[in-house]
Amino acid sequence: MIEISGLRRYVTDSNTARLEADIKFVDIDGEAPAETMWFEIDSNYGGMLVDDTYDPFMLIGLYLAMYYHTDLKICGNVSKKLYKNLTWYAQKILCDFSSDLSPAKIFVDGFAPTVATGTLIGTGISCGVDSLSTLYDKFVCEDDDDYKINALFFFNCGSNGLMEDGFTASLASVRCERSISVAKELGLPLVPVDTNLHQFWREEYGETLFFLSIYACVLSLQNAIRRYYTSSGSSYFQIKANGVSYENHDLSSFCESFFLPLIQTERTELIVDGCQYTRVDKIKKLADWDIAQKYLNVCRMYSEDAHNCGECGKCLRTLIVLEILGKLDDFADIFDLDAYKKQSLNNKAKCVAEVDKDVFCKEILDLAAKKNFPMPQRRDCYVLNKQVVIFG
Ligand SMILES: [Zn+2]
Repeated sequence: MIEISGLRRYVTDSNTARLEADIKFVDIDGEAPAETMWFEIDSNYGGMLVDDTYDPFMLIGLYLAMYYHTDLKICGNVSKKLYKNLTWYAQKILCDFSSDLSPAKIFVDGFAPTVATGTLIGTGISCGVDSLSTLYDKFVCEDDDDYKINALFFFNCGSNGLMEDGFTASLASVRCERSISVAKELGLPLVPVDTNLHQFWREEYGETLFFLSIYACVLSLQNAIRRYYTSSGSSYFQIKANGVSYENHDLSSFCESFFLPLIQTERTELIVDGCQYTRVDKIKKLADWDIAQKYLNVCRMYSEDAHNCGECGKCLRTLIVLEILGKLDDFADIFDLDAYKKQSLNNKAKCVAEVDKDVFCKEILDLAAKKNFPMPQRRDCYVLNKQVVIFG
């Protein structure tokens, strides 16, 4: 059994506010990677951390229980809505996602208060295409105060690298600084949240634990957050058409559009945003936004200053869209365009060659056709042993 107990909120010696609970592996073949799970923020924001419910710890506890084929015991209260959703629905999706997981019983003492006190409408900010798309729609374009973003969050919970890796802290700090700059320009507060949840990560979990950790971070701030947008990288169509191909390695692409709506409490609503668009739609929308031209960051190569290399897969697929739109020069300050230009022809040929296998290549070719942008001819493009070959 996995047992979670001892919920507490306190100010640490380094003057941060911490929400913490103990976790024990009981009669499990394996040790818990840490004795506690915690979330930490600036002590000025300490009141945001919810200390009357174990909700933020329940998600990771449940995932571990399902992985170790055991039950989860929580020595305290949780949201009834979240408990029911996890018990009846979410576990089925997780079991479909990974054959390593099996259903687990959740034992709780009782249920937490249901009256919402939060007024923040938030989203995370990574400065990627998905994140900026949500910010553009729900801050720049949204007029309704119940749905307009009024706070930004930066969760250091895994996507910046592994906890024990020293590089993680410096990369997280560079990315956080960039997010702070965006928040300042938009006049929005930004709340950085730290957690040790990625200490529980194991290679076999793939990225699943990171996704759940983001949701857990949101649920740790239920005293303050009324609504929270998570930016999805997959469209409804992609999840419907290709979801199964992401089984066991990418939870977001497998099911985010229908999994996330189950991660709700009476006090905090999580909304999955971005599934209504293709990736090309999002880049088109951002191409003229000065904030995107200054801060967009898509690169998958981790460098110390976290700049866009111009030649990795993510840079290439972003820049080809901007090139077709005639907007490349507007992004010259934040991408290495010389590196891109060296790869550009090969990248276009690869798109043409893989159009039947890759939804994003299809979107790019459709856009090129619409804009009368010249692409290599299909009959001349092949992929041999992962190398793109162009004849003619
Ligand atoms: Zn790159």
